[in-house]
Amino acid sequence: MNECLFCKIIAGDIPADRMYENEHVFAFLDILPTTKGHTLVVPKEHYQNIHDTPERVMCNIITTAKLLSSVIEKVMGAQGINIHMNNGSVSGQVVFHTHMHIIPRYDNDGLKLWRGEPYKEGEEKEILKQIKAQLPH
Ligand code: 5GP
Ligand code: ZN
Repeated sequence: MNECLFCKIIAGDIPADRMYENEHVFAFLDILPTTKGHTLVVPKEHYQNIHDTPERVMCNIITTAKLLSSVIEKVMGAQGINIHMNNGSVSGQVVFHTHMHIIPRYDNDGLKLWRGEPYKEGEEKEILKQIKAQLPH
C-alpha cells in the first residue's frame, strides 16, 4: 500500500481542501498556512522531489501554479506571491511527494526572505566553473 500522504490526499483517502485539479496535477490548501491562501500544487504521479520529477511533470506543476497564483492573489487581496519548493530534508522538505508552495504575500505579513551574504574573493568563479562543467555546453 502506498504510504505517501499526498498520494492519499489525491486518492481522496485523506480529506483536504481541494482547490483545483486536472489530468496531471492536484492543488489544495496547506493545512498549516504560512499566510492565508497558502496552496500546494502536486503532480498526480508520485515523485519525491525536483530531482526525479520529469520535465513534462514540472511544466504541468508550474503551469498550474501560474494559473492559481493570479486567482489567489486577486481573491485574497494579496500584494504578491512567493513560489517555493523544498527539495531534500535539509531544505525543509517534510513530505516526499513533489510539491510546489504558492504563498500569498501581504503588506506587513512579517515574513522575511533568506539573507544574502557576499562571496569571498574568487569563490564565485570557482563555483561557477564547477557547475558549468556539469552542464550542457
Ligand atoms: P514541505 O515542508 O515538505 O515542503 O511541505 C509540506 C507541506 O505540507 C507543509 O507546508 C505542511 O503544512 C503541509 N501538510 C502536511 N500535512 C498535510 C495534510 O495532511 N494536509 C494538508 N493540506 N497539508 C499538509
Ligand atoms: Zn505520493
